[in-house]
Amino acid sequence: MIPTILPTYNRAPLSFTHGQGSWLFDEGGERYLDLAAGIAVNALGHADPRLVSALTEQAGRLWHVSNLYRIPQQQELADLLCQTSFADTVFFTNSGTEAAELAIKMARRYWFEKGDPRPGIITFQGAFHGRSTGAIAAAGSEKMTQGFGPLMPGFLQVPFGDLDALRAAIGPDTGAVMVEPIQGEGGIRALADEDMATIRAICDEFGLLLILDEVQCGMGRTGRLFAHEWAGIVPDIVMVAKGIGGGFPLGAVLARENAAAAMTAGSHGSTYGGNPLACAVGLAVSRIVSEPEFLQDVARKGAALRAELQALVDANPDLFEEVRGRGLMLGLKCRVAPANLVQAGYRARVLTVPAADNVVRVLPPLNITDAEISEAGQRLRRAVEVLRADAAGN
Ligand SMILES: *Cc1c(COP(=O)(O)O)cnc(C)c1O
Repeated sequence: MIPTILPTYNRAPLSFTHGQGSWLFDEGGERYLDLAAGIAVNALGHADPRLVSALTEQAGRLWHVSNLYRIPQQQELADLLCQTSFADTVFFTNSGTEAAELAIKMARRYWFEKGDPRPGIITFQGAFHGRSTGAIAAAGSEKMTQGFGPLMPGFLQVPFGDLDALRAAIGPDTGAVMVEPIQGEGGIRALADEDMATIRAICDEFGLLLILDEVQCGMGRTGRLFAHEWAGIVPDIVMVAKGIGGGFPLGAVLARENAAAAMTAGSHGSTYGGNPLACAVGLAVSRIVSEPEFLQDVARKGAALRAELQALVDANPDLFEEVRGRGLMLGLKCRVAPANLVQAGYRARVLTVPAADNVVRVLPPLNITDAEISEAGQRLRRAVEVLRADAAGN
């Protein structure tokens, strides 16, 4: 019999009752150090009092009115995002997938308005942009698309980071390039800053829109509000979600005026997108994570956590190849199945996330403490001991 929850997930046999900061507590009262953060979502950990009060205060007043009306919390959040980023305008969604859908529509409509339809969008292999029919066509992997065809046409994938292939793939129908500055699901694969700059230059040369998917790497995760800032480039469209809601479902598309100009009244919409409850929480998160001191601290703590991971790699060269990533978006490239390390971590009471390319992701809350970073090192060393004991059949 089919389970009452559609069985599309491979779930760990763990269930949590509550959380506090970087910690989750299971039904037996066991405490786990959360280096997964709900897949880079709980930017401020669990039960942060500032977010709890933003949510509960708004919940007592007004949850939802729809975009038939003005929503002051949405306006305030849009203004803040535009003040702190490249963007001139913002559309709010409920997820990263929905942000991808709008980014694709915005790019196509931009060219349509010019009277020069160029629906083609080039992406990188190994990308992840969500699970809608558009987003799976964009990423194009067999794993996500099998059985779901016919796929939305117009997408072309080139090998990750291969800028010659990118240039060669540009044709008369190409309108945009869509990339993650750091691939998350793809295995914490970062584009070098020089490559990001070259991609921008290629887009400029051919007049293409540059769409960045910062759903995972954005909102302070790398130690800058957006990962593309490290490369000093200005994108045209950026997709945001995950961290921006701190655990409340919220996403956004940020855009420059020129890129967004064709999105006129009636051209797109969402019933829930940017509702008062989501935006009250998003505003509380965004105010905190966009503070320069907060971002500097993420960068500093990222270096400390990276040093812990590097020590683990150095001590276990048979198990690990390298540490990857930036800020608090880190990955351990494994020589063993990453799922085995993640499972060993459960017994060492530390939570991590597997990714493609044999990588285990380490994505703690951005406000993880220095003491918790040392604790992370200890617990990961313990996980390695568990993994070795398993391999030895003990
Ligand atoms: C998670 C993710 C998405 C999809 O976001 P959902 O909220 O799951 O729809 C898109 N792009 C990237 C880079 C992601 O990490």
